[in-house]
Amino acid sequence: MTEIQAVFIDRDGTIGGTGHFIHPCDFQPYAYSKDAIHLLKAQGIPLFACTNQWRISKGQATMDDFYEEFKSDDLDDAFICPHGPDDECTCRKPKPGLLFEAAEKYHLDLSKTMFIGDTGTDMQAADAAGAKKILVRTG
Ligand SMILES: [Mg+2]
Ligand SMILES: [Zn+2]
Repeated sequence: MTEIQAVFIDRDGTIGGTGHFIHPCDFQPYAYSKDAIHLLKAQGIPLFACTNQWRISKGQATMDDFYEEFKSDDLDDAFICPHGPDDECTCRKPKPGLLFEAAEKYHLDLSKTMFIGDTGTDMQAADAAGAKKILVRTG
């Protein structure tokens, strides 16, 4: 089996929630998400959240709110796009910027990473970065 260097996980609709904005204070992972996260961690695979959170740009939450949340979910790091749809950034999924950011920080070969998400947007970002992908139906 090919070595997996890291797994990227979308937040809303994948780890928990409804697929829509929920403030980190109120976010509840699905019961089985914690188990899945711990199974992957037991394999020694680093887990990174990879999420669009445009409401950060509206001041409705901060990057730190999200970093705290992902830490409490036992993820190893988080890559977050705080921009709005009209900001023309390079990190908002379906663009692959968040994955490139992670690859640079952790020296990853993205073809040896996996993206788990619940939308076509996630799958497009994975494709654009050359990552393997898993579409879940929870979202
Ligand atoms: Mg999602
Ligand atoms: Zn962005």
